[in-house]
Amino acid sequence: MEHTILGIHHITAIAGDAQQNFDFYAKVLGLRLIKKTVNFDDPGTYHFYFGDEIGNAGTILTFFPWGAGIQQGRRGSGMATEIGYSVPAGSLDFWIKRFDAHNVAYHQPSEIFGEKYLTFFDPDGLKFELIESKTTDNRKAWETHEIKADVAVKGFHNITLTLNNIEGTANLLTTVFGYKLIAKTANRYRYATAAVENAAIVDLVELPQEKPGQVANGTVHHVAFRVKNDENLMHFHDIINALGLGITSPIDRQYFHSLYFREPGGVLFEIATENPGFTVDETLEDLGKNLKLPKQYESKRKEIEAHLAKIN
Ligand code: ZN
Repeated sequence: MEHTILGIHHITAIAGDAQQNFDFYAKVLGLRLIKKTVNFDDPGTYHFYFGDEIGNAGTILTFFPWGAGIQQGRRGSGMATEIGYSVPAGSLDFWIKRFDAHNVAYHQPSEIFGEKYLTFFDPDGLKFELIESKTTDNRKAWETHEIKADVAVKGFHNITLTLNNIEGTANLLTTVFGYKLIAKTANRYRYATAAVENAAIVDLVELPQEKPGQVANGTVHHVAFRVKNDENLMHFHDIINALGLGITSPIDRQYFHSLYFREPGGVLFEIATENPGFTVDETLEDLGKNLKLPKQYESKRKEIEAHLAKIN
């Protein structure tokens, strides 16, 4: 089988208060909480996954809510600085009204690469765009009683990386990941893969003088790219390892299998498989309802649950 990067798998960011994070993404933005678990490297912290009904790759936004009052992060170079969501054409007016009603910070709509977009910030300052994508987007959005399919968030459109120099990152995207430069304006370079229709775009913004970003509250921790299966994962492991980029061995993340490495521009990248998916430990109907723990923490469930704030 072809070894192909299939666009974005998930994006992981840092948040403050867990309840505030849940309220914003599940209630205001209308995403489905598809998994409530803990940070496998730090089980005292939640790990929330938001996405479409089943948590298809390309729709999954995950958070480590470190707790209220944590240090504020700062967008800067060597970091993913903007998350772009695809929304239906004509939906931005709905979102402006909704953001007004829920005191969400946003900018007036603008246009780039022929696409209308609305910038907004989550309660911790994480930066997003809702984009009326030019690309056909037939993904079925998760609906809530207030947010129906004609306006609902469908999944990722693009991710923006801010870099002092785009060369190394661009080279990785084009020679290893199968992306091509498809557009450019000022210092923004748009790369896309033809392997998938959606969640296919990576924008590189070159800012030579920009200071390194600081990963803390309200910033992106890493960007994960999607592969079909473990065989594909190992194919990319060996290529990236040979480039000397210091890639990890595969790690079992319960819902997917992952590799991590820092790309030449300094952004933490992950490559993740589609298998086994989020229904591995819950039914489709029950996704996100109960705290799920990986095997190694199940014996400590009582202590872990006692330590975590209740979310509702
Ligand atoms: Zn990840």
